Amino acid sequence: MIITIKRDQDKKQLNNLLLWIKDLGLQADISEGEHSTVVGLVGDTSKVDIDLVKSLDIVENVTRISEPYKKANRKFHPEDTIINVGGYKIGGNHFQIMAGPCSVESEKQVTAIAKAVRESGATILRGGAFKPRTSPYAFQGLGVDGLKILLKVKEETGMPIVTELMNEKYLDEFADVDIIQIGARNMQNFDLLKAVGKVNKPILLKRGLAATMEEWLMSAEYIMANGNNKVILCERGIRTYETYTRNTLDLSAIPLMKEKTHLPIIVDPSHASGISRLVRPMSLAAVGAGADGLIIEVHNDPPHALCDGAQSLRPEQFDEVVKAIDVMLPVVNKVRG
Ligand code: PEP
Ligand code: MN
Repeated sequence: MIITIKRDQDKKQLNNLLLWIKDLGLQADISEGEHSTVVGLVGDTSKVDIDLVKSLDIVENVTRISEPYKKANRKFHPEDTIINVGGYKIGGNHFQIMAGPCSVESEKQVTAIAKAVRESGATILRGGAFKPRTSPYAFQGLGVDGLKILLKVKEETGMPIVTELMNEKYLDEFADVDIIQIGARNMQNFDLLKAVGKVNKPILLKRGLAATMEEWLMSAEYIMANGNNKVILCERGIRTYETYTRNTLDLSAIPLMKEKTHLPIIVDPSHASGISRLVRPMSLAAVGAGADGLIIEVHNDPPHALCDGAQSLRPEQFDEVVKAIDVMLPVVNKVRG
């Protein structure tokens, strides 16, 4: 349920309303926008007398929210959420590019790629230390050692880092990670979602391989319901009947999710296509669709990459993609960095 408060409301009356909501055992989420103040009610709102609330002087309107996601709902929070990552803003009219290798292979590799992508305009470094692989015989990532490498490169380059957490038992080791990634395969690992909901840092929530937009929003809701509102959504392609691409990039999810939620949404053209030559056109399509950023896999020697070489750009190809993105950004009224 949302209560829209009249403009120039009386603060005392608003406080009384908030106390009354609390007494009903409900949680009130206040969102102060430029044009109005919206109070979102979370919990069992069946006992709220709508007519009584509507009759209050300060109340403009009361509506029930039919969608199962509340905190993630744009009706609850009409303004875009903007998340600050080491001074870089994600959401609103900002556009951030995250780039780096699929997996952390060595300090030399990550350092070289980080420096190159930073030079081209990437602001956030990606790299997997814990890798969710389809085959148990495939490279599983360097684990905690890989994390240490990422943190070292963060210190050296000043780039914030984003990396995947597969098991909450490693949360302490992730203390200095800037964005915790929840991978597609774990989008509905509810215990993991609850655990990162209790952390005070941004979470990059990838869309599940076969998840509807509503299921994806409900996973964001899990994180938010546990106290963490800093959720960044990532469209990374979904499983369809098509086999020429690794996944099918659901571009329509970007404008649609922007209607449904106030959370920022970025696109991963690398996992969405699985083919490096498709990364440029899919990146530009994502910009055109209104994405708040991109996460792109870059490797200095793709044929020898331990994971996802076929979809990785070389640094010079990445540089060219960023230049093309820059040409497009003014059209969607976004500024990079
Ligand atoms: C990744 O980003 O390295 C990854 C494994 O992505 P996804 O969870 O989208 O497959
Ligand atoms: Mn990958």
